[in-house]
Amino acid sequence: MSTRGWESTLSAFSADVSETAVTSMEKTFSIITIGCKLNQFETEALASSFLAHGFVIVPADQEADAYVINTCTVTSRADHKARSMIRGIAREHPGTPLIVTGCSAQTESEALSALACNIVVVPQSEKSRLLELPLALLRSLDAGKEPGANPRALLDTESAADPFAFAPTDYSFHTRAFLKIQDGCDCRCAYCRVPLARGRSVSLELREVLGRAAALESRGRREIVLTGVNISAWRAGGTGLPGLLRELLRSTSRARIRLTSLEPESLTSELVEVLAEPRICPHFHIPVQSGSDGVLVRMGRRYLSDRVSDGVQRLREARGDPFIAGDFIVGFPGETQEDFQRTRGMVQRLEFAALHVFPFSSRPGTAAASMKPVVPERIRRERARELSALAEELSASYARRWVGREVEVLLEGKTGARPHGVTGNYLKVTVNRVPRDASIPGKVVRAKISGAGRTCSARFLGIAD
Ligand code: SF4
Repeated sequence: MSTRGWESTLSAFSADVSETAVTSMEKTFSIITIGCKLNQFETEALASSFLAHGFVIVPADQEADAYVINTCTVTSRADHKARSMIRGIAREHPGTPLIVTGCSAQTESEALSALACNIVVVPQSEKSRLLELPLALLRSLDAGKEPGANPRALLDTESAADPFAFAPTDYSFHTRAFLKIQDGCDCRCAYCRVPLARGRSVSLELREVLGRAAALESRGRREIVLTGVNISAWRAGGTGLPGLLRELLRSTSRARIRLTSLEPESLTSELVEVLAEPRICPHFHIPVQSGSDGVLVRMGRRYLSDRVSDGVQRLREARGDPFIAGDFIVGFPGETQEDFQRTRGMVQRLEFAALHVFPFSSRPGTAAASMKPVVPERIRRERARELSALAEELSASYARRWVGREVEVLLEGKTGARPHGVTGNYLKVTVNRVPRDASIPGKVVRAKISGAGRTCSARFLGIAD
């Protein structure tokens, strides 16, 4: 799984909901998400279920009839964040049901349950049961009951939990539509807790993937983001990810397809051949983790550095100048300065357009937790700073390479009066001179990049077909 999104989306999510005026009759809920795109997608589905039952979303600091925290356990920092949020809400709203779900709820359920009496911990493996929560809450409120008195009674224990029950009809927090195609992982990377939280790898049936994608496209979605824990491991019958992508391109016509991340060992010529298709977004996120073969072996990764270089070269041959991003963990036990220099050299040589750099975080229940020698925290932070500084330079040079070039931008919102959005190759762009009837979130416009930056500027050229 990509380490991306573990931390970066922590705050953004809960902040998206501004102060909401509600009448005394309206039922309200608040939902906070910590972690990756997959967690965000599952939150979209939960929110969609609440909205379908007439609830109104409110920010976490506003009174609500129920609070849900969708947790992450990939780093100790994510665990700490979840606990402080749980304590805060339980203290502020002692009489209101506080549902704690997600990966931390799977691995730390007892500890989290003990934090307050109005908490109901729903482990990740049972998260889909929460899709029934809005109806149960509605019935309880309409019956004049105090749901906070016995929040556990709200949970539907009859229906079988299903990791693919999450199929939002509407998206409250995203313009681009996420589609969960896989969950869990059969790998055992030494630093990773995800298999402990999300179990073995499971894949959504091919027919179901195609049906859901067609439904999203028919509802006007112009981008479908395939997500999972390890989508490279998607498999149904004799078909793997390359076959799935071919079928998806055959059964849809306009939507562009974006992949959340691809394991280095999955960058085979068969996969890269289909990634060369124009409706596949030229944006590839690769959880590389290290540029040192010695460290990769100790991490239990399934490739060496030359395989990464080959994969990146293949992607460039197939797509010209795609946006290639990478995850790197620095300060893994036993990582020497020489190992780190190998990582730095790889990043420089392969010119990643963006990096997500993580100082090693020891996780309970993982092989790396007992590995020696431990790299001092100070060194881990120094190496993370150094690699992040290099990443900044490489991101800036990637954006500069696109000045003067034409792109298609999926509009997502406005900065002041100017619409902003994202290109197929993952550039964040603000577009100038967009006519009013074209500046609508969800529309795709053609534009020419006129200025490079964290957010590039572009000049409107027309509406894309
Ligand atoms: S075990 Fe490895 S491949 Fe699986 S989710 Fe963790 S890091 Fe990714």
